[in-house]
Amino acid sequence: MRLKIVQTGEAGLREASRPLSPDEIRSAEIRQLIEAMKETMRDAPGVGLAAPQVGHLLQLAVIEDRPEYTKDAPREQLAEREREPVPFHVIINPQLSLLADPKIEFFEGCLSLPGFMAIVPRARKIRVKCLDENAKPRMIEASGWYARILQHEVDHLHGGLYIDRMLTQTFTTLENYNRHWKDKPISQIKTTMGVGGLPKLS
Ligand code: ZN
Repeated sequence: MRLKIVQTGEAGLREASRPLSPDEIRSAEIRQLIEAMKETMRDAPGVGLAAPQVGHLLQLAVIEDRPEYTKDAPREQLAEREREPVPFHVIINPQLSLLADPKIEFFEGCLSLPGFMAIVPRARKIRVKCLDENAKPRMIEASGWYARILQHEVDHLHGGLYIDRMLTQTFTTLENYNRHWKDKPISQIKTTMGVGGLPKLS
């Protein structure tokens, strides 16, 4: 079943989600929700979807970066982003630790703000302690693009959106991103878009 993806401006996207108990995780309701979220994410398509994005304030997200999403992307771009396919999996009650400073800068988007992108600094390396869909504890160490996806999804579970962390001057429509910025180096984009350029108001 495809679910409706909640759009920015809905209060639920700004609320903290609650953790799930092991019994809840194994319940038919949560199994069905996971299946529906998987279908909704693939249909979008997206590389991650958090429960608050489909109207459930639960600490649960699904993640999958399929090889077909990047089959036409230039090799150098994938290498630069450290982007590799990630098989489908579920994270529940995640606890995120950054293993590096959040200073890797790339454009990022979100299914709850379709049609826009911005540069978001993220940590290159992270650790996530969580439960899987069988309520089994899991420890994930991730780097590169996968680490970015995890940081993005865990933010959703705390009422956060990428626009809270973006370099605001780089906020762009997807159309203008494809037209002007897609193939330019991040440092050049930041200069052209005037990151840090406005004088302080007094
Ligand atoms: Zn998102």
